[in-house]
Amino acid sequence: MGFTLALKEVIVSRNVDSKNRMRGFATRAIHVGYEPAKETNGSLTPPIYMTSTFAFETAEEGSAKFAGELPGYVYGRSKNPTQTILEERIASLEGAETGVIFGSGMGAITSAVWAIAQAGDEIIIDQTLYGCTFAFFTHGITKYGVKVHPVDLTDYSQIEGVINNRTKLIFFETPANPNLRVIDIERVVEIAKRHRAMVMVDNTFASPALQRPLEHGADVVVHSATKFLGGHGDLVAGAIVGGREVVEQARQGMRLLTGATLSPMSSFLILRGLKTLELRMERHCNTAQCLAERLEKHPKVSWIAYPGLKSYPYRDVLTKQMSGPGGLIALEIKGGLAAGRVFMNSLNLVTRAVSLGDAETLVQHPASMTHATYSAEERKKHGISDSLIRISVGLETLEDIEFDLLQALDSV
Ligand code: PLP
Repeated sequence: MGFTLALKEVIVSRNVDSKNRMRGFATRAIHVGYEPAKETNGSLTPPIYMTSTFAFETAEEGSAKFAGELPGYVYGRSKNPTQTILEERIASLEGAETGVIFGSGMGAITSAVWAIAQAGDEIIIDQTLYGCTFAFFTHGITKYGVKVHPVDLTDYSQIEGVINNRTKLIFFETPANPNLRVIDIERVVEIAKRHRAMVMVDNTFASPALQRPLEHGADVVVHSATKFLGGHGDLVAGAIVGGREVVEQARQGMRLLTGATLSPMSSFLILRGLKTLELRMERHCNTAQCLAERLEKHPKVSWIAYPGLKSYPYRDVLTKQMSGPGGLIALEIKGGLAAGRVFMNSLNLVTRAVSLGDAETLVQHPASMTHATYSAEERKKHGISDSLIRISVGLETLEDIEFDLLQALDSV
């Protein structure tokens, strides 16, 4: 578990140049896992291995590959070379030993949890999670003899109150969807380690360009790669990174058996998206910061959460573990949900759609959309306001997004 010396060596060997100098994040986002000159035809960009199966020279070779005695590929559901490049690259960016990709973020999250937990185990989750993740923990996995405790992970006494020797895992998002609460990774890890529990972080909202939870002691990181990693709104995908034991269990025990694999085409598109991840995150952060500052002063905005604002309550934790405030803004409009709907319906450029991390600025209403899997009482108890509107700030020209948001606020 954790960041052992051996693990560090594996990571370093993959990410250094010939003079043993650690390569930078952007360089690794463009190069790790693929060397063009070594590819048969020297293709600069990785080939898309659009195949369902792989031929064997002899029956013996096929048997040996199936037995794992020879390296190589046997069938598209188990693995594909385009996927392998992507897995190495995401693992490198998160500072992980290894990684595995899935057909969706939910495929990755559920597989990672099943790779760790079994009947009789207990899991502690944060009170604020993406709606389907919350539904999986509170209604899905509990059917199979796993007990789940939703608590407020910013209140450490609540963790101490439920953690015990059956606790296998603590799971959270930081920043959390949709209200952008931030959880102190190191504090949670410290409590978990004392009880020999693992820590899994959903890093979707930050992306490894802004936050790398493994460096703060987490054991496993999961992603909806549909979001910032892909970055272009053209695919659905997920990823798990961490130590070999959990990742291989998720690959062999879950992905192979559930079939929640990712197509070679989508793997290629994420590889392409990753090349600009650092640049895109910089732009998402800068534009979101300007918009949040403008919206905070607007008389029709009654509440706003953006990690880059001075009024943001978790700034100490944020500066400790994130290098930028991200591209998401949560806000409430004076007049509540009805006013919020008028605002949303008055937008012309900003698109009404769920998802996030795309080039397009997107707006959605969590209570009736991404978090509709919570009951009204659960939303109230878990601090997800019915009036909250979530904006995923895109890459368009700042003034155009600002103009659209302000004219929509005028209509309220
Ligand atoms: N985690 C977070 C924080 C999300 O926002 C989402 C989806 O919105 C998911 C996981 C699930 O990912 P996917 O939609 O790729 O299955």
